[in-house]
Amino acid sequence: MTPWVAGIDLGGTKIEIGLVAPDNSIVARRRFPTEDARGPASVVERIAACIEALQAQAGARVAAVGVCTPGPVDHLNGVLHDPPNIPGLHHAPLAALLSERLGVPARLEHDAKATGLGEYHFGAGRGERSMVYIIVGTGVGAAIIADGEIYRGAHNSAGEFGHTTLDRYGAVCSCGSRGCVETFMSGPWLARRYAAAQQGGAPTLETEARIDGEAIAALAGQGDPLALHILSEAGDALGTAIATLAMILDIECYVIGGSVAHCGELFFAPARQAVPRHSFRSVGERVRIVGNQLDTDAAILGCAWLAAGAGAITMWPRSAAPKYGAASLQWVTRSHLLCAALSVFRLSFAAF
Ligand SMILES: [Zn+2]
Repeated sequence: MTPWVAGIDLGGTKIEIGLVAPDNSIVARRRFPTEDARGPASVVERIAACIEALQAQAGARVAAVGVCTPGPVDHLNGVLHDPPNIPGLHHAPLAALLSERLGVPARLEHDAKATGLGEYHFGAGRGERSMVYIIVGTGVGAAIIADGEIYRGAHNSAGEFGHTTLDRYGAVCSCGSRGCVETFMSGPWLARRYAAAQQGGAPTLETEARIDGEAIAALAGQGDPLALHILSEAGDALGTAIATLAMILDIECYVIGGSVAHCGELFFAPARQAVPRHSFRSVGERVRIVGNQLDTDAAILGCAWLAAGAGAITMWPRSAAPKYGAASLQWVTRSHLLCAALSVFRLSFAAF
């Protein structure tokens, strides 16, 4: 039986929580400021209080919770590392803290990976064997799902698509490298490119941006020639980068989400045109680039999917919930090793 679960999307500015019913519908949701400067205990307490309120509203109890945050994330131990935009939660053992407070299993995942899982299981990726989810917003990231499993790499860092090099002589990126994918298409870089083109110079991190990425999308929608050109270049860059992914991974389905993806065909059409120019015909002709379907629901449903797997395997009564400390961290590690060892049980949740 599929349980009730909660999905938690924890970002730099806001936390959004959804209560997910056994039929995979989000039946209740709330959003509130992250305020990470108040520390992990405050964040965990406000999340727990919100989930309790949502449970009372729906007349249900969750069997597990899943939470996603910007990376880097230690998904095995449920520990957030040091994402630059959430300094108050650096090295917080979020999964253990939430599990102790709520008395149910908790899973922590990187937000791009959780969102990708949401789209894969419930959105644009339904029916696909493998898929790459690419988020293009303030930053650019990706989740690679191969044969139904997230590809993590050695340290759960796989998918840093935004900081792969597209032009080794290009603009200096915030990561210190040059010509990263992100410098061609993230919202802030679209604004820099627009401002630089207006001023007749090259885009740089310091280029004054009087408008943001969403404004450029709006201008393009109104037919502004410069905004259309910038967006077309961004799409061409996206297609070129996807062609490289396709040549390496031989994955056919690429789902694009994030605020820049709201530009739709103005962004996607030049991307599709670029793919065959930079890949073998036999590979490129099979590539499909589509927009996401779930928008912000994807992260909540991806977290819920992870939570349902955790709850099914490691559920225990509330009285037996572990106390937080070194022992509970070991317990979390053991529970996730158990999850991995018993991953075959996920087959029984294929319908979730
Ligand atoms: Zn970079």
